[in-house]
Amino acid sequence: MIKTILVPTDGSGHARKALALACGFAEKYGARLVLVHVLLRDAAPDDLRAVTNVKQLPKAIRVELERVEDVPLAAASLGGGYVAPPIPTSVLEAVGERILDAAKRVAERSGVKKISFHVAEGDPAAHILDCAKREKADMIVMGKRGLGSLQELFIGSVSHKVGNLAACPCMTVK
Ligand code: ATP
Ligand code: MG
Repeated sequence: MIKTILVPTDGSGHARKALALACGFAEKYGARLVLVHVLLRDAAPDDLRAVTNVKQLPKAIRVELERVEDVPLAAASLGGGYVAPPIPTSVLEAVGERILDAAKRVAERSGVKKISFHVAEGDPAAHILDCAKREKADMIVMGKRGLGSLQELFIGSVSHKVGNLAACPCMTVK
């Protein structure tokens, strides 16, 4: 019997597909949905802007988000990636709120009756695993990939860790 389905979301396309599938399961089994978001501390500012409807953010937050720049690294020794700029927590919280709000609306539109939310800060996989345990999740449905830019990797580090360590079935969706 599936009573509780946990859906971790970073707002990515894969996470949105996972949510759609989870909503179908929730409806079929009359299960409740637990939506989990861990603040996107390591995300590139462009990704934050891409996963949020920027226009819906409060003006002060929008201004802050627009101010944060992606800083390409000149130093080859650092792999030519991006330096993580200091994104204010208030911005990450506002983005997280929008991601969860959008997920909630999708779930409600699909007819899911019981939805709860968790927002945390820290290691995403650790929080997802902890939440699954506390909520006694019967199933986790998550994206195979997320916002990470290492697209050549087969599977994201969060889905890899959660899939390996979860005590319940874990489905990754692409
Ligand atoms: P990596 O982060 O290792 O560079 P990635 O971003 O492509 O790779 P993951 O982070 O593993 O891949 O994302 C896979 C799935 O994990 C996402 O679709 C989402 O369901 C979940 N997830 C990832 N990060 C978070 C987060 N901060 N909060 C909630 N769920 C998350
Ligand atoms: Mg990621």
